[in-house]
Amino acid sequence: MEGKKVIITGVPGVGKTTVVNEALKKLQEQGIEYKSINFGSFMFEVARNDKIVENRDQMRTLDRAVQKRLQQRAAQAIAQVPGNVLIDTHASVKTPKGYLAGLPEWVLRELMPDIIVLVETDDDQILMRRLSDDTRSRDKEGARSIAEHQQFNRSIAAAYAMMTGCTIRMITNADFLLERSSTELAEVLR
Ligand code: AMP
Ligand code: MG
Repeated sequence: MEGKKVIITGVPGVGKTTVVNEALKKLQEQGIEYKSINFGSFMFEVARNDKIVENRDQMRTLDRAVQKRLQQRAAQAIAQVPGNVLIDTHASVKTPKGYLAGLPEWVLRELMPDIIVLVETDDDQILMRRLSDDTRSRDKEGARSIAEHQQFNRSIAAAYAMMTGCTIRMITNADFLLERSSTELAEVLR
């Protein structure tokens, strides 16, 4: 049987990776395997080899054409992965020149997802999570601007549904409720 392709998105610091890891653990206990893929890591691998950037958080400031090339190559490589695939990425990327679509037509054509999940939570919770994470160079932005980004992601997700016929699912990853959000994600993936 053909594998399922699920794309998981959410603004930086919303806790996507944490929810994904918890959900995949639950699924594994039920005998369901997903390959977990980080889109940004595929892009970064190429960008670092080409000596374009030194850390992954520099990629969103690159020239738009360069980001597109990295994005295209990542999508082509990820499309080759067989089985059930869960792709951790962004509905839109906040660049110095505005929002960049994370899943434009040339990416969607490669990936053709069954489901796009939007992981969301309150803007002030995201702000606090970013402030307490020193492993990444997260954008310094206020709650209003985080709210705008989350709203924009919902809007652009509607366009992705139109282009692919995929379903769009919002999951709230609230403070102290990881158990709830990861259970919800596991159910979506099942
Ligand atoms: P992440 O680790 O998920 O925050 O991703 C790191 C970086 O990878 C992001 O800040 C973006 O520059 C880049 N990236 C990830 N997914 C995409 C995408 N679908 N389109 C463009 N850039 C992306
Ligand atoms: Mg992440």
